[in-house]
Amino acid sequence: MAQVELVDVCKRFGATEVVHDANLRIDDNEFIVLVGPSGCGKSTILRMIAGLETISDGEIKINGRKVNDVMPKDRDVAMVFQNYALYPHMSVFENMAFSLRMAKLGKDEIHRKVNKAADILELTPYLQRKPAALSGGQRQRVAMGRAIVRSPSVFLFDEPLSNLDAQLRTQMRMELKKMHLKMQTTTIYVTHDQIEAMTLADRIVILKDGKVQQVGTPVEVYEQPDNRFVAGFIGNPPINMLPAVVGRGSEGDEISFCGLTFPVSLPAGCKDQDQVLAGIRPDSIKRDGALAALPEQWLIDGKVVVAEIVGSQSLLEFTMGDASIIAELEGRVAAAPGQTMKLGLNLENLLLFDPETEQAIR
Ligand code: ADP
Ligand code: MG
Repeated sequence: MAQVELVDVCKRFGATEVVHDANLRIDDNEFIVLVGPSGCGKSTILRMIAGLETISDGEIKINGRKVNDVMPKDRDVAMVFQNYALYPHMSVFENMAFSLRMAKLGKDEIHRKVNKAADILELTPYLQRKPAALSGGQRQRVAMGRAIVRSPSVFLFDEPLSNLDAQLRTQMRMELKKMHLKMQTTTIYVTHDQIEAMTLADRIVILKDGKVQQVGTPVEVYEQPDNRFVAGFIGNPPINMLPAVVGRGSEGDEISFCGLTFPVSLPAGCKDQDQVLAGIRPDSIKRDGALAALPEQWLIDGKVVVAEIVGSQSLLEFTMGDASIIAELEGRVAAAPGQTMKLGLNLENLLLFDPETEQAIR
């Protein structure tokens, strides 16, 4: 049971500030993911929470207690790193039992805790093996087991899946989610991978250059990004961003891009003739049967650049005027390069950004 709070937290290395005024309230049992490009300050924030890095300014609280000056071992947190080092000469059991032995727990209690963690992580059949006789995913589970046995109030994960191959990463992602459901422990998870963030998180914290850009549920940050960076960082394939001009005419609102004009309903923040960036998610582009649900004025002719079938969906790159656009379409699209295809833009999901400030226009 733990809440974690960051209040105006700053981190400086010498004169360089790498985390600026981070504010965050993490609820008990929440799964929070810090996501952002390499170097944006994710690990530094996690290490400050763990107590492995000093806090230059501001406060970190765990369960309401200020922990700035509390030793890492007294913070009741456990951290799992990307480069976890298991003791090669020790069995899985001994690797997991190590910290408990150091803490001078009794034999029975150590057995109980290790066996319980092994059960959660499905490592029971491997308890007597040495790390060399395990797969990458099993080793990573042992590293997590070492954190679990301590029953901390908070789990801290720093890119724990980055060293695994793609298939294993997907599998371990599911395991982590199940583990969190079973253990009900506050978890702060760092990754540069927005798919991991979207699939694991209760709430996502998006960081750039040491600044929190947005905090929200996966759906919120996908559907209502606060700025251009968040819109581009979340979502794969990435959002299409088109320079556009909006109009408020007597006939109603409209937006023009790629030499075409579409009737839309504009947010209050737009004025007539404003230059904007129009953000269109690849999954807001439709074809065939799905076109009937769209107003006729939202239909376009796209010139196919290349179509790629991905299972039951297809990725289509097409041009419209001088813009190149990516669509994620339902079904298997067989389209030859150069061919013209009838497509529809679902402009109900249109996102608008100020080209100067890059903030969302609402
Ligand atoms: P991330 O985990 O998001 O990739 P980090 O938190 O590791 O980023 O780093 C954030 C910034 O702080 C980077 O610019 C990095 O170079 C810098 N940094 C990290 N650790 C140190 C250090 N010990 N001394 C100086 N600069 C550091
Ligand atoms: Mg890092």
